[in-house]
Amino acid sequence: MTLHIDLHAIVANWKALAAKAPGARAAAVVKADAYGLGAARVATALYEAGTRDFFVALAGEGRALRPHLPTDARINVLSGHMEGADLTGLVPVLNSLEQFFRDRTMRPGKPFAIQLDTGMNRLGLEPADWAAIKAEALAAKPDFIMSHLACADEPDHPANAAQLTVFRQMTDGCDVPRSLSATGGILLGPDYHFDMVRPGIGLYGALPFADAQPVVRLSLPVIQTRSVQPGEFVGYSATWTADAPRRIATVAAGYADGILRAISSKGASLYAGDAPCPIVGRVSMDLITADVTDLAQVPLTLDLICPAQSFDRLAEYAGTIGYEILTSLGHRYNRAYR
Ligand SMILES: *Cc1c(COP(=O)(O)O)cnc(C)c1O
Repeated sequence: MTLHIDLHAIVANWKALAAKAPGARAAAVVKADAYGLGAARVATALYEAGTRDFFVALAGEGRALRPHLPTDARINVLSGHMEGADLTGLVPVLNSLEQFFRDRTMRPGKPFAIQLDTGMNRLGLEPADWAAIKAEALAAKPDFIMSHLACADEPDHPANAAQLTVFRQMTDGCDVPRSLSATGGILLGPDYHFDMVRPGIGLYGALPFADAQPVVRLSLPVIQTRSVQPGEFVGYSATWTADAPRRIATVAAGYADGILRAISSKGASLYAGDAPCPIVGRVSMDLITADVTDLAQVPLTLDLICPAQSFDRLAEYAGTIGYEILTSLGHRYNRAYR
């Protein structure tokens, strides 16, 4: 089972997104182990390409990444300063009054950033909280002030402009770098770029960055092939029955590897190059079965994620988003980097 990860494509996607926000620094979001692709390798490649600002979700992720990056790389922790967190060498993005006072008491003089809530109601200081500490926070010179858009993947959603207005109201006149946009916000245009942008999913080749270069190819070894006769079924609960003589290949990967069982019977295929081999029967824990009747020769591996079938398309079959497919991919794969 090999997850091929193209670091050149990740760098190219970072550069392409950075070029869409020419007035802003482009950071890179590498939380959840770089969306499952390996934060140390991904962040190192991006550092070499010029990225200096990285985002992780948790202090533990930041501590794991810290030794892999030179000291001029800033690693920002989106969950901020939680009780007991070890933030050595990291920059907490402070989300509440409680975090602000904890951090300024325990880490005076150390770098920090501020997150404001502009309508998503998930993380960040609300306008009244911000007003209460604004002067004190600005005097301590935060690295940047940020907020996050809830609906940036829907360009016409009125929440985008509403959040932009609130962000401006809360930060205009603060002499501090500002950051509002992830991948979706970068594509909304220059009003949303401010001083730093924070792409994640677009780096990894997925929507909403439709022009992204593909980054991931997932190749699964064929364990066995067999013939089935009309009337014979394949897999758990006998959900698929052959209507003619067919050849079936069984490959080594399943829902324990993040290949969601919900893609079963939705039209997904394994691919031999460009040739689709429809997945038949249920995806089980460690195995997938596909109809390879039309192949002249069955190769050693079949691809589940490849140019012919993006993980965004798999996400559609599963009724979810590419982010969930990617971050679910799990630890049994050999991750091979180009
Ligand atoms: C995950 C995240 C990002 C990156 O979002 P993408 O949609 O993957 O580009 C940026 N900012 C914050 C606060 C996030 O939580």
